[in-house]
Amino acid sequence: MPEGHTLHRLARLHRRLFARRPVSVSSPQGRFAGSAALLDGQVLTGAEAHGKHLFHRYGRDRVVHVHLGLYGTFADNALPAPEPVGQLRMRLVGETHFADLRGPTACELITSAEARALRARLGPDPLRRDADPDRVWERISRSRSPLATLLMDQTVVSGVGNVYRAELLFRHGLDPQLPGRALDRATWDEMWPDLVALMRDGVRVGRIDTVAPEHDPRRRGEPGRKDRHGGEVYVYRRAGLPCLVCGSEVRTAAHAARNLFWCPTCQPDR
Ligand SMILES: [Zn+2]
Repeated sequence: MPEGHTLHRLARLHRRLFARRPVSVSSPQGRFAGSAALLDGQVLTGAEAHGKHLFHRYGRDRVVHVHLGLYGTFADNALPAPEPVGQLRMRLVGETHFADLRGPTACELITSAEARALRARLGPDPLRRDADPDRVWERISRSRSPLATLLMDQTVVSGVGNVYRAELLFRHGLDPQLPGRALDRATWDEMWPDLVALMRDGVRVGRIDTVAPEHDPRRRGEPGRKDRHGGEVYVYRRAGLPCLVCGSEVRTAAHAARNLFWCPTCQPDR
């Protein structure tokens, strides 16, 4: 599933390619056709992301809310656009580019008030300037749930997915099963800015890199990571491989239907 940096990249790209100009909106597949007809030819006034949600704004009160879910994609290219094929939920066409949305969990036309209500249910997003880390800390520090659960809970903190979760816990030497209320404030105060920096880097380069230069295997003449997620990471999907810091075997276990990855030596059970 795309993590928050992907949605912020899309928002940024859509602002650049389509905003402040009329766009043509269609739903070749038909499932968004009624709403698309209302928006077709209107000016896209803005695009923003909050966590894994993308919002396209038209005029004062029309917002298209998109959630890609596990399988959704939103791909752009230069015009001319080819004939639509397959399940194309929404196509945006601007002056120079088009973008095709396929397979999203959500693509719906809502009002500004509905968008605000939706955002109010989401936790602070490290990539947004309005994010308040104290709100995240309040939830974490009162909870008996493991950090592994809390960091993926989009009402606690939004935009963190499986990769950022695994890597943040590793970088701070935290056992994924540590209950939120056992985390100390000093550690949290280091984690938040680290998460912000990692995710901003993800927006900038379009992949998740979390490994410090001194731990990068390429520095030792070993090959870099080959994975469709790209980027160099410490533990995510490295089960059975040696930890880049201590050499212990990276472990994995299912946790709430997603795989967790950690180093038992660097992230000891306290
Ligand atoms: Zn280790």
